[in-house]
Amino acid sequence: MSRKKNKMERLNQSRLLARVKAQSGMDTTDPDIRPPSGAVLANKDELSHNNTYGGLPRFYIDKVVVCRNCGTEEIWAAGRQKWWYEVAKGNINTRAVLCRSCREAKRQK
Ligand SMILES: [Zn+2]
Repeated sequence: MSRKKNKMERLNQSRLLARVKAQSGMDTTDPDIRPPSGAVLANKDELSHNNTYGGLPRFYIDKVVVCRNCGTEEIWAAGRQKWWYEVAKGNINTRAVLCRSCREAKRQK
């Protein structure tokens, strides 16, 4: 029974990853694109610490991150990206490189 449930969860997860991948080519800096559902709008004032030649994003969409440590594919949610770039002031050219469990493991070391 629980094995069946796990299989369902994996299936749902892979469908979700496929959907996120399908929109990953979207240019979030393009002024003519309408943010898709699930997008989180960016606040340009909070992104002004970036000194970049490329445009700043107008919105964030969920992204797939392949963990550099274990190879797991994980979704980096739009809301978490907003936090990283606008609250933690991460550089716009940086992105998540580790999955959640590897980040946890690293933190505990
Ligand atoms: Zn990992």
